[in-house]
Amino acid sequence: MSGCVISDQHRVSGNFDQKALVLFSGGQDSTTCLAWALARFAAVETVGFDYAQRHRVELDCRHAVTDRLRREFPAWGRRLGEDHIVDLRVLGELSDTALTRDTQIAFKERGVPNTFIPGRNLLFFTFAAAIGYRRGARRLVGGMCETDYSGYPDCRDDTLKALQATLSLGMDHRFVIDTPLMWRDKAATWALARDLGGDALVALVRDETHSCYIGDRTHCHPWGHGCGDCPACDLRRRGWEAFAGGAA
Ligand code: ZN
Repeated sequence: MSGCVISDQHRVSGNFDQKALVLFSGGQDSTTCLAWALARFAAVETVGFDYAQRHRVELDCRHAVTDRLRREFPAWGRRLGEDHIVDLRVLGELSDTALTRDTQIAFKERGVPNTFIPGRNLLFFTFAAAIGYRRGARRLVGGMCETDYSGYPDCRDDTLKALQATLSLGMDHRFVIDTPLMWRDKAATWALARDLGGDALVALVRDETHSCYIGDRTHCHPWGHGCGDCPACDLRRRGWEAFAGGAA
């Protein structure tokens, strides 16, 4: 796995004067999106949602990720601003899903996993837009992905383009929803981390982020922490192996 850290000066683009708000859960995808935003925008804030997940490990990982980002990527750290936590525990009351209840994680009819909380990402982006409006952020960044195994309809590109138009009209404020992972699989997401921050960022994502549905942080694998058996661990392991094997 080779890769070089490209200096921030070379990452400056035409969007650099803009402010972004990143939907940041502490997982692999949203951490990669946070790095993507820090490499592009002048100021970046983060928002996390507490919706009574069965485990809070991911939310707890958020601080470890941002602390290490600040320490190891000081130029990014200077752009990294406020963190917002939104209490959406009402979502857990509305949904009977494997993430919020003690039921087995399995696929239901119609191919949608029962980890699905109906419309979750619509709500996340709507709350993010309300915060972005107040904070002067035009870019809303999320790690949604159509190539993921899950097939969540609120992760689809068309859904989020429609939501971008709705939020912009409804708040009379031009928002852009950025989804840098939309057409990337998990191996390509690891490769993106390497392109953005070299091996140091790959190591940060591997060590500090969390994907496991069970909330297991006690078992350590080449691809990071997790139970090793749940669908999220399986996806992460396969992505890592494809990346490390040079397929990405
Ligand atoms: Zn797991």
